[in-house]
Amino acid sequence: MGTAATRQIPSSDLASLRAAVEGPVLTPDDPDHAAECTGHNLLRASRPSVVVGATSADDVAAAVRFAARHRLPVAVRNAGHQMVVPEDGDWLLITLRRMDDVVVDPGRRTVTVGPGARWDDVLPETARHGLAPACGSAPRVGVTGYTLGGGIGPLLSRTHGYAADHVRRMEVVTADGARREVTPESEPGLFWALLGCKGNFGVVTRMEFGVFPVTRFFGGGLWFSGADAAGVLDVWRTWQAGLDERTTTSVAVQQLPDLPQLPPPLRGAFVLHVRVGHLGPAAEGAALAAPLRAAAPVLLDTLAERPYEQVGEIHRDPVRPSHVSETTVGLRELSGGMFPALTAFTGPDSGCPLAAVEIRVLGGALDREPPVPNSVPSRGVPFVTFAFGVAPLPEAGPVRGRLAAYAEAMAPWADERNIMNFLSPDAARARTDMRTLFGAERHDRLAAVKRRYDPENMFRLNHNVRPA
Ligand SMILES: Cc1cc2nc3c(=O)[nH]c(=O)nc-3n(C[C@H](O)[C@H](O)[C@H](O)COP(=O)(O)OP(=O)(O)OC[C@H]3O[C@@H](n4cnc5c(N)ncnc54)[C@H](O)[C@@H]3O)c2cc1C
Repeated sequence: MGTAATRQIPSSDLASLRAAVEGPVLTPDDPDHAAECTGHNLLRASRPSVVVGATSADDVAAAVRFAARHRLPVAVRNAGHQMVVPEDGDWLLITLRRMDDVVVDPGRRTVTVGPGARWDDVLPETARHGLAPACGSAPRVGVTGYTLGGGIGPLLSRTHGYAADHVRRMEVVTADGARREVTPESEPGLFWALLGCKGNFGVVTRMEFGVFPVTRFFGGGLWFSGADAAGVLDVWRTWQAGLDERTTTSVAVQQLPDLPQLPPPLRGAFVLHVRVGHLGPAAEGAALAAPLRAAAPVLLDTLAERPYEQVGEIHRDPVRPSHVSETTVGLRELSGGMFPALTAFTGPDSGCPLAAVEIRVLGGALDREPPVPNSVPSRGVPFVTFAFGVAPLPEAGPVRGRLAAYAEAMAPWADERNIMNFLSPDAARARTDMRTLFGAERHDRLAAVKRRYDPENMFRLNHNVRPA
């Protein structure tokens, strides 16, 4: 391992840090530094002054105390889907992927995870006990980051609410380096703030949450030619309004890459992907889906009864690390006028460089406050749209321009609130107005919690709420 000092940090201090932690402590001159700092999104290549590959809560606490001594801002990363990294200056990164243990308690129907676990670490363990977590659409996403941001999924959310609503306890290292047990009883303010406002208040080193006795579902996707998108979207818009909470759906207009791993009708095609997840019997799901199947010729139909472990088949999100730029808008309504705007914007003749533009239906239990309240700001937002494009720098410029134009095009239907998990790193850099996003009262309470637990704003490399 290298010994060179960074701009601010004497090498003797780095040596003490290395002696205090079990995991690697790497500086930019170390050959392993770049690999340790690379996550899912290759556009967010980061170059922290120091990266600590934590293996335990003690490693995390030592890293945080070191950062406090050197007045370094701290970022944490698990799977790296939503990294906010500074463009310059000294900072410290804590990577959590080594802390990926998963323990299921079938009697209490709970799971306890380390902060490095991803949903695909949890799904086989819960399935063994006939249980299911309220995971999201992409099993490669990290459990802790997803849950701290609320967590909306394609199957259980409309019946059971946000993943955050089911958290029982957390272990957290705060900016003073203290290790805290955080429950609604022991640290009510911190418990409330963390669940909804993510990494602003400390590093979660363990999380326990409730899971559900669900083993199977009916679901998957229907792909239609982009030429039929307008008609199918009209059918879908009417159809989704009649669904009960057991059914979840979304649509995505996609410009698919010409890759051999895609089935022939989808390779390089401009398509509409309609996703369905249903918690009732398969025959009921098939009957429900009949109007969608009849809306236009179907290019590919993957709707089927499946084990819960296959929840990722509903969206089939991309799994390989790539150069992703993204944007999101919370939506007040699904108006008929929105879809012509969407298909004109993304269509095959539009020159649109975006890979996908999706709309998810929220509602149901996502609108209800849980028995133990948390800071999730998006209850009552009925729909959300998310768009992304894939291009390395400098080609990312036109993609970002198109994303900004898309958000602008959706403005007539926009809600001020949004899904915290979908906020892009660019939104953090542009200083998204967190007061508007959370609402004044919730924001001011978050800022007060921040003042108590992180008065120097050590954890500011995120969608940041500043201390009041
Ligand atoms: C393909 C794809 C599909 C997705 N689908 C969904 C979905 O269906 N529903 C949904 O709600 N979201 C979804 N997301 C968003 C995803 O939940 C967030 O990006 C989430 O933060 C990812 O966590 P991570 O560990 O993968 O990423 P990271 O970039 O490693 O973490 C993201 C941020 O979370 C915070 N964080 C992570 N771990 C900790 C910790 N232990 N302590 C404190 N703070 C922490 C930090 O601020 C960190 O910067 C999706 C994202 C992608 C790329």
